[in-house]
Amino acid sequence: MFPAHIEEYVRPTSVADALAANARYEDGEAMFIAGGQSLMQAIKSRMARPRCLIDLQAIEALKGIGFEQGLRIGAMTRYVEIAGDERLRGAYAALRDAAAHVGDRQVRNRGTIGGSCCWNYVASCTPAVVLGLGGTFNLVAASGARRAVPASEFLIGPLETARRPDEMLESVAFAPVAGRAGSAYRKWGLLKDALPVVGVCVQVTLDAAGVCTAARVSLSGLSAGAQMATAGDAALVGSKGEPAALERAFAAIADSADVQADKWASEAYRQQLIRTLGADVAATAFARAVV
Ligand SMILES: Cc1cc2nc3c(=O)[nH]c(=O)nc-3n(C[C@H](O)[C@H](O)[C@H](O)COP(=O)(O)OP(=O)(O)OC[C@H]3O[C@@H](n4cnc5c(N)ncnc54)[C@H](O)[C@@H]3O)c2cc1C
Repeated sequence: MFPAHIEEYVRPTSVADALAANARYEDGEAMFIAGGQSLMQAIKSRMARPRCLIDLQAIEALKGIGFEQGLRIGAMTRYVEIAGDERLRGAYAALRDAAAHVGDRQVRNRGTIGGSCCWNYVASCTPAVVLGLGGTFNLVAASGARRAVPASEFLIGPLETARRPDEMLESVAFAPVAGRAGSAYRKWGLLKDALPVVGVCVQVTLDAAGVCTAARVSLSGLSAGAQMATAGDAALVGSKGEPAALERAFAAIADSADVQADKWASEAYRQQLIRTLGADVAATAFARAVV
């Protein structure tokens, strides 16, 4: 389907100009467009009917990956850049895992971390990984007011975030992780690189002896959207990633996760995926732990 009539298309080169264009319209009448990989489908199906599209592609300030005081990824940074950045290792490696397997090459060449998280599609990978790595969303309003919202508060539920209509996402940030840390993400879908039936993100921090001192696990592919899973913490923390400890951790997570049956998979199938995929992903996270 062709989109319904759109009255205005603007392509600003600064965040301030983009926010000023947004402020000329009532809430929701203007929409930012990043890679267009989700929004264009929504516009064509009339699920979204913006009067104005504000294209963020020409705003250089929203692009790029920086490592000052942790990690900061501009909202307009594309999957292909994240997947190809070899500096994203150890604590941040899960971001590359996810970005490298989103959709097909076109989606990865166009889609952005900001678009994915602001859309917060029910089964998408990036919101679950940002949540699992304890990320923060940096927002700016037309007034110039800025706020940093933890992923656990920003990602409210499928297609819902804490972003206010007058705000734009500028970047996603991750605090420095003290000590040796490793992370990994993997998903299982009916098609290679398709949206996940289940995806698991694990981040572990280890002491000098290789013993886990902190663990974060998040899940994708569930009907409630990206979720933290804490039921395995007791088995992970204190372990060195021994197979028995990982099996115990992901058995506990599978038993407590709010899994759904749908046309893609039964509840039992999703639970089994969490057990097997989770233990594998955690083993990779332990193996990747670096200072
Ligand atoms: C064939 C296909 C396969 C896919 N497979 C996967 C997959 O396996 N895993 C996965 O996770 N995802 C998958 N996706 C979704 C993909 O990740 C999209 O790219 C992503 O959801 C949207 O990113 P975008 O940059 O294209 O955003 P857009 O579609 O341009 O925008 C999405 C929403 O975010 C808003 N927005 C964008 N940027 C900002 C900003 N800076 N501030 C405020 N609001 C903003 C827009 O207004 C819009 O509401 C797939 C998509 C397709 C088409």
